[in-house]
Amino acid sequence: MSGRAGAAAAGASRPIAVLALQGDFEAHRKKLAAMGLEVFEARRPEELDRASGLVIPGGESTTLWKFFEGEPWEQAFVSFASSGRPILGTCAGAIVLARKVTHPPQRGLGLIDMEIERNAYGRQLDSFVDHVDAPRLGGTLPAVFIRAPRIRSVGPGVEVLATLRGEPVLVRQRNVVAATFHPELTDDTRVHELALSAAIAGAAA
Ligand code: GLN
Repeated sequence: MSGRAGAAAAGASRPIAVLALQGDFEAHRKKLAAMGLEVFEARRPEELDRASGLVIPGGESTTLWKFFEGEPWEQAFVSFASSGRPILGTCAGAIVLARKVTHPPQRGLGLIDMEIERNAYGRQLDSFVDHVDAPRLGGTLPAVFIRAPRIRSVGPGVEVLATLRGEPVLVRQRNVVAATFHPELTDDTRVHELALSAAIAGAAA
């Protein structure tokens, strides 16, 4: 992309966008800023053009879709993903990235080949904190689950990066990463580092 090349030539790094339509975008923005990264809150689809990476936060996926339907967001996300820039979706953000969404059924962007079930831990386990197994991230990770979805199946192109009791909770397909938990609510930075490494490397260059 010429815009990207232009920014690199000028020595300017591009910030990471946090989608700020709804949900806990502020926690992601603060976390990325605390990691020393340049970050901005995106409220319009065209703002994604100037971003090196994108976070789609948790919140309510049905509400996110209401916003998406009013503006050309879907097109913006699909072209963002196909440009190769990294995307991290957490909880509701993971739900909107999926190919298939159940309980109840809802549209998905299809940027990760997975089937995901909303609010899938039942009322008693509505919200909980646990440690997930993430051998590729150096062991276990603390994870906060809030009315979390469960990933019911993944396609062959999807890597499972962390599991809870054997079930995938952190997955990646090419440059798109989805977590069913909230890595922005703990001090651990490994999920953001892993998902956004391409944007972080660009910023340091
Ligand atoms: N239950 C929400 C949904 O289905 C997700 C919850 C969250 O993002 N913490 O969209």
